[in-house]
Amino acid sequence: MAAGLIGSIPTGLYIDGQWVPAASGATFDVENPATGQVIATVAKGGAADATAAINSAARHQKAWAATSPRERSEILRRAYELILDRQDDLALIMTTEMGKPLAEAKGEVVYAAEFFRWFSEEAVRINGDHTTTGDGKNRIIVTKEPVGPCILITPWNFPLAMGTRKIGPAIAAGCTMVFKPAELTPLTALALTEILTIAGLPAGVLNIVTTDEPGSVVETWMDSGLARKISFTGSTQVGKLLLAQASRTVMRTSMELGGNAPFIVCEDADLDKAVDGAMVAKMRNMGEACTAANRLFVHRSIAGEFANRLAERMGSLRVGDGTEDRTDVGPLVERKAVDKVRDLVADAVDRGATVVCGQGPGTADGNADARDTAGYFYLPTVLSDVDAKSDLMGTEIFGPVAPVIPYDTEDEVLDLANDTSWGLVGYLFTQDIDRGLRMSAALEVGMVGLNTGLVSNPAAPFGGVKQSGLGREGGRVGIDEFLEIKYLAIPRT
Ligand code: NAD
Repeated sequence: MAAGLIGSIPTGLYIDGQWVPAASGATFDVENPATGQVIATVAKGGAADATAAINSAARHQKAWAATSPRERSEILRRAYELILDRQDDLALIMTTEMGKPLAEAKGEVVYAAEFFRWFSEEAVRINGDHTTTGDGKNRIIVTKEPVGPCILITPWNFPLAMGTRKIGPAIAAGCTMVFKPAELTPLTALALTEILTIAGLPAGVLNIVTTDEPGSVVETWMDSGLARKISFTGSTQVGKLLLAQASRTVMRTSMELGGNAPFIVCEDADLDKAVDGAMVAKMRNMGEACTAANRLFVHRSIAGEFANRLAERMGSLRVGDGTEDRTDVGPLVERKAVDKVRDLVADAVDRGATVVCGQGPGTADGNADARDTAGYFYLPTVLSDVDAKSDLMGTEIFGPVAPVIPYDTEDEVLDLANDTSWGLVGYLFTQDIDRGLRMSAALEVGMVGLNTGLVSNPAAPFGGVKQSGLGREGGRVGIDEFLEIKYLAIPRT
């Protein structure tokens, strides 16, 4: 069933309303991480294709900006409905190219679609301001205009939602786009592009270039002089490179980068809720999320009990191919990811951590330590008594590993939590409202989950501080990232 579905996805580049092969004729392979098998071959765009795509976006910008907000809104609304109609197919495509279990993939489809519904509603609510200068002599009229052609770059971990979170506000604002999805998960992005064409998006508004050599494609766009904005989601390392490139043309930037989320459980927390929260914050997407709980700080008086209860839950999860109903935890996205997680765990254990459950690559049946398995599995792992100097404290684990670090005082845990260059999200479990508000304010992050392990929602402003990024996606401010402010000074007569 998956093979037929995947065979029906367009595999070319979509430029100026046409599906075309790469100018060079080159292609690259897409793998299923549960089996290591090639499942599709898609066009490998290069600099010439990138130029054609950005020229198309620039050519169509004026006409697209002139469309009515209602027209743009209704395209998004139709696309929202089409995505939900195709929920099962889109979920299967995602699971097959990146591994997450089908149930999670279906959840992502709904989450992703919701960005289109949210921004279809925002498209008709772009407003400005009208005031008078302090001396009463001038009127100030503030209007908002689309920023212009945008470069959109997305990661592989949420292949559909990271696309709709950018494409939705860009369409709503009246921006044209060039879009480069991650090389590990191009199929979902291609299927989404096809849906937008069916929803009536005019030619040239969205141009997609797939490639497994992103550097030259993206740099061609960055230096084209035609793009006015880049919206990037991915690693901090690549984000910094793109910020340097953006400086060459003083381009507007939105950067959704990496995280190193602290997950704090105070001694007064409801332990059941804290364990439930940890399961979501750690295990969503097999731990491959920028919002993943990376460091679990638990008050020393309950650290042992918390680790045991979490291990009981994590240890009972079934690891396997995400397309099978029985699977709770799919493979990691590629072999490199398994090697990285294994090295981080080995370092923590060398420094004295205790393995409460898991450790080691698994097989599709969940058996430990079958290193020659074809898929890229890693067993859900809980480590207790982790030394705060371990490598995993300063690295995005991006896998199903929960390190539990005991702490003694509130000041100490806040210092530990903030001792990182990242600042995307923090989680805090306490039943004391004053403490909850006080500690939330002290956490150097863009988002706090207070007694919850999930913060992502299209209606909320998602984003981080420090090296986790610049700007916000979603919520009422999400569309502002794609709008430019213009002010008119008018003498009062
Ligand atoms: P990545 O930075 O390797 O790749 C992200 C995108 O950038 C991909 O499309 C890739 O092809 C492209 N890219 C890579 N090198 C490039 C270059 N030299 N020039 C231009 N583009 C280039 O990240 P990834 O491995 O795909 O995703 C995981 C990372 O994304 C993690 O750090 C995670 O925390 C982060 N992430 C952040 C958020 C957020 O909202 N803050 C959401 C999801 C993922």
